[in-house]
Amino acid sequence: NDEQFKNVISHAKEYGFVFQSSEIYDGLSAVYDYGQLGAELKNNIKTYWWKAMVQMHENIVGIDSAIFMHPKVWKASGHVDGFNDPMIDNKDSKKRYRADQLLENKIDELYSELANFSEANQAQFEKFQQGILALSDEEQAAWIIGFKNETEILDPSKHPFVEETSWRFVRKGLALEVEMNLALKAENLSQLKDLIVDYKVICPISKTSNWTDVRQFNLMFSTQFGAMADGSEEVYLRPETAQGIFVNFLNVQKTGRMKIPFGIAQIGKAFRNEVIARQFIMRMREFEQMEMQFFVRPGEDKKWFEYWKEARLKWHKALGTPPEKYRYHDHVKLAHYANAATDIEFEFPFGFKEVEGIHSRTDFDLSQHQEYSGKKMQYFDSDLDENGKPYGNYVPYVIETSIGLDRMFLLTMINALEEEDLSTAEKQDSRTLLRLHPALAPIKAAIFPLTKKDGLPEKAREIMDSLKLDFNCMYEEKDAIGKRYRRQDAIGTPFCITVDHQTLEDNTVTIRHRDTMEQQRIEIKDLHFTIDSKVSW
Ligand code: ATP
Repeated sequence: NDEQFKNVISHAKEYGFVFQSSEIYDGLSAVYDYGQLGAELKNNIKTYWWKAMVQMHENIVGIDSAIFMHPKVWKASGHVDGFNDPMIDNKDSKKRYRADQLLENKIDELYSELANFSEANQAQFEKFQQGILALSDEEQAAWIIGFKNETEILDPSKHPFVEETSWRFVRKGLALEVEMNLALKAENLSQLKDLIVDYKVICPISKTSNWTDVRQFNLMFSTQFGAMADGSEEVYLRPETAQGIFVNFLNVQKTGRMKIPFGIAQIGKAFRNEVIARQFIMRMREFEQMEMQFFVRPGEDKKWFEYWKEARLKWHKALGTPPEKYRYHDHVKLAHYANAATDIEFEFPFGFKEVEGIHSRTDFDLSQHQEYSGKKMQYFDSDLDENGKPYGNYVPYVIETSIGLDRMFLLTMINALEEEDLSTAEKQDSRTLLRLHPALAPIKAAIFPLTKKDGLPEKAREIMDSLKLDFNCMYEEKDAIGKRYRRQDAIGTPFCITVDHQTLEDNTVTIRHRDTMEQQRIEIKDLHFTIDSKVSW
């Protein structure tokens, strides 16, 4: 799997999809540039999302809000006070870690150890773990104390998982995880520090190392606004696009005469000073989000949450991704403003990871902005309720769908890239193929004159000119035809069109299909329809 991931990264670079930012200066960590083909693929993913969300829903409109926002926005949203990662430095290696990540790694380690145990034990463990997750904070705390005293204070008939006593090591890890989560929530850094020390006991890498205290590290980038030093104010680069939608809720609702339920969508850059950024474009410091906030009547939020949960997974699957590569991950522990949340996870080469979040955010954001701005964030609903009375004024509830464009890009590349074995009895052969959905392919058709003479290039150019207004095309005359085909396979071009001497006589060309490598003779006048029927949504 490591190998597969490395191939994707080198392929992305070799063919002009993704470059490291400022590469000639040895790059800037966790910042990437999209190259000539990457920019096309990214645009096509955006179009697919925009069409599905905005064009296909009469009650969803799109906006494009600014990256800079009034500093109070981030106070109201909770980002100034709460958008933190706990950070710890190793004084010896000078490396910086996220404290919670360290623990996560440890848990992963524990899991892989578990894999060596029998299946029966594994099942038992899973039951045990689910039990832990289902506990309330108080129960967790009680259980941890019980654990520390080596006595079980929970009633085993209520919690069958605590009967099992042979899981001390695993439980120690889990107990620490739960404890650290509680400490993080309570922002109790001294407690967290103690836990990290405790954690060292079971974490071999930290035994011999010298660690700093845990510090809270805000993930927002800030900069000075205005040219004068004394007149300037600190502003943030937005860490999510959603707030631009919330503050425009009334502007859009009034000018667009929107009736609840309705949505506002947006695609745009977001910035997070991630403590550890890794796995290529999976976790970046500058990235792009595609978000939609759907405003609903209070009480109808659960229904719409279910609707969007299903609709968003359908969107992913419609690209032809094997369905078993996707799963939901419902949040058991919820953020204070949410009453339901789920992630859509994709099986990356490094495991199942979040690509998109669907969150039921209640009226938290609009209420916060109402409080901080002093402006009413209400909607007047003239529809009648079951008692025949108008619903009247209320702050709407919000269901949010939030997908990372770069993660979607990575997922798409991972899914599409394959080394296809074409060996026959006589000879070994293979080709590198980017099996992209044709609508996502950066180049829709490549046009080749068979040779560089006899008027073939001119004829090929003529065909190119007739197609390029509607499709992104590429003209290529270098190298043997076979080599040119292989190059297009590697960048995912669904069609190659070859102009030969016969073309000059009867206006037909050879069209080659990427996936089947099948070649067909068709009339030039049918090219447009043939391509269009495959590449349009
Ligand atoms: P994670 O847990 O992976 O940090 P998150 O829960 O903080 O993600 P959200 O705040 O819900 O993510 O953001 C919505 C989406 O934005 C995520 O599902 C992900 O696809 C994308 N995203 C978030 N952070 C990054 C990042 N640093 N780089 C690239 N994409 C990101």
